[in-house]
Amino acid sequence: MRNIAVVLAGGTGSRMGSSVPKQFLPLAGRTVIEHSIEIFNNHPAIDEVAVVVHPDWRSRMEEIAAAAQWEKLGKIIDGGSERYMSSLNAIMAYIDEPDDTNLLLHDAARPWVSTEIVDRVVAALAHHEAVGVAVPSTDTVWEVHPDLNGEWGMENEEFIMPRFVARIPERKLMWRAQTPQAFRLLLIRDAYQRALQDPQFQATDDCGVVRKYMPGTKICVVEGEEENKKITFAEDLM
Ligand code: C5P
Repeated sequence: MRNIAVVLAGGTGSRMGSSVPKQFLPLAGRTVIEHSIEIFNNHPAIDEVAVVVHPDWRSRMEEIAAAAQWEKLGKIIDGGSERYMSSLNAIMAYIDEPDDTNLLLHDAARPWVSTEIVDRVVAALAHHEAVGVAVPSTDTVWEVHPDLNGEWGMENEEFIMPRFVARIPERKLMWRAQTPQAFRLLLIRDAYQRALQDPQFQATDDCGVVRKYMPGTKICVVEGEEENKKITFAEDLM
C-alpha cells in the first residue's frame, strides 16, 4: 500500500490581499510551500509527494523544486479554480495507481503540520479508508444564517444582511477540521465521480465530499494540533 502526499497549492490567496499566493510568501527563510512539502518528503511512511499549483505558478514551483531537490517529489499538477477541482485533478493524476493506494491531501497553507500528525494519519489508514485531522473546538460554534428578508446594514463599507444565530451545537461534539485528509484512492475517486453528477455540488474539504456522496463510510478522526493552522490572512504569517 503506497502513501502519496498531495500538497494543494492551487489557490491564488485572494483573502490575503497579496498578488503573491500565500503558499509562495516567505516564512522563516523559505517559502511557505517548502515547509509544507518538506514534512512529507522527510516522513518515512510517505512514498511520493505531489504538488498542485495554479498554471501561472508552475514555473516558480519548478524553480523551487529544482533548488530543493526533494527526492520524493513526483508530479506537479495543474490546479483548478476551486479547491475541490485541485483535489480532483490530483486524484485524476494518480488514477492508474492501485485502488488501495492512499492519498493524503494537505493544504499548502498549513506549513506547521507535524511529523506526529502524519504518524497518526498513517497509523489510522491501516484500519480505515478515510481519515481526517481535527482539534476539539474551545470556542462554542454557532450556525449563523443571513436573514434574506431583513434590512441591509453596513460593515467595512460593504452592505451586509443582518445575521442571526440559527443553531448552537453542543460544544464538546464540535471539532475544527484541519489537513491532511487521507483516503484510499478507490474511495475518493468514487466520491468525486458521484459528486460531479450533482449540479449543486460544492465543497470546502475532501472529507465533506466523502461524507456527502459515500454516506456509509466512517471517517476516522485523529487529533491535530492548534499549531497546524491555515495561513489565511496576512497576520497569520506574522
Ligand atoms: O482557500 P483555502 O484557504 O481553503 O485553501 C486551502 C488550500 O487549498 C491552500 O493551500 C490553497 O492553495 C489550496 N487551493 C487549491 N486550489 C484552489 C483553491 C485553494 O489548491 N483553487
